[in-house]
Amino acid sequence: MPLEIRKIEAFVVSLGFREPFRISQGTSTVARNVIVKISTDNAVVGWGESSPSQRVTRENADTVIAALDKIGPALLGNHPLRIEKNNELMDSVVEGNPAAKAAVDIAMHDMLGRETGKPLYLLMGGYRREVLTDLTLSIKPPPEMADDAARAVRQGFRALKVKIGIDPEEDVKRVEMIRERVGNAIQIRVDANQGYTPEQAIKVLSKIHRFDIEFVEQPVAADDVKGLSQVRKNSQVPVMADESVHSPEDALRLVEAKAVDLINIKLMKCGGLVKGRKIAEIAEAAGVKCMVGCMSECAFGIAAAVHLAAAIRNIQYADLDSDYLLKDRLVREETLEIRNSMRVLSEEPGLGIAEIDRKLLGEPARVYS
Ligand code: MG
Repeated sequence: MPLEIRKIEAFVVSLGFREPFRISQGTSTVARNVIVKISTDNAVVGWGESSPSQRVTRENADTVIAALDKIGPALLGNHPLRIEKNNELMDSVVEGNPAAKAAVDIAMHDMLGRETGKPLYLLMGGYRREVLTDLTLSIKPPPEMADDAARAVRQGFRALKVKIGIDPEEDVKRVEMIRERVGNAIQIRVDANQGYTPEQAIKVLSKIHRFDIEFVEQPVAADDVKGLSQVRKNSQVPVMADESVHSPEDALRLVEAKAVDLINIKLMKCGGLVKGRKIAEIAEAAGVKCMVGCMSECAFGIAAAVHLAAAIRNIQYADLDSDYLLKDRLVREETLEIRNSMRVLSEEPGLGIAEIDRKLLGEPARVYS
């Protein structure tokens, strides 16, 4: 008997951040995520996660549930490992809603691993077994950010992502003070989250270039492809698209326009691992390297992203720290723990997540069966 999806459960969870997290577009204190569990006619299950972003894809936990109300019933009876086919089905019943689809896509991939007894990264290409992640520094006054940077380095982080995009002069100061404090061995990348005009971005980058900046993420507005090209042409700091690239189609458009050096793939923007791989492949064909980033995922979504980053050669950077920034934990701490900035993949099947805090998970908001 072939495997069949018999039941899909969706749990809404509220996970608090350790401290308020501020970027140029606003501040977060809690992540309202949706955890998805898919069950089959045998004992095999798969877990996935949606961490919706109102700012980036105009989704929240309620719209995720509304999308799952259409997707869930449509998937019942399907083979859970016909993942490409099931992605097509999801796209045919709901337009957009990538974060909702990502949860289902991740759960099907987890099941693929559990059913075959292999860790997911090996099933997707298995390029490397460990992934270096940065830690993201929330926007604060420059001296406080330098303190945060020093603490992160003491904790073992070797790469820092510095949030900027608020005030050009203060932003230069932030980067300068952080570089002074952590020394030259630490990788520093910056993320403006669309905070600048192209002219401001070029000016800030010309001033922080000397602090050895790996790349700048999304210096200008998401839809300003011309602005990205302009910054790229007039700056020595490589330019990475984040908010500008949701889908494989966006990636193609940007690489055709030669607008960026790098692309940040997020499962919540593109709709999951199937589409994330397509972005990485389009980028590779154009000589554009990728990073995998995150929204506010806890262990499930982060594990999926780490497996993707490990699997694919063209994914050369990772910004996979959101579970670390959350104080509420749905799974045992040891799952994919960060040690010396590294996420080391285990040989556990699927995402590698074993023990779930059922109390924190609570009762499902929806059961489709
Ligand atoms: Mg970003």
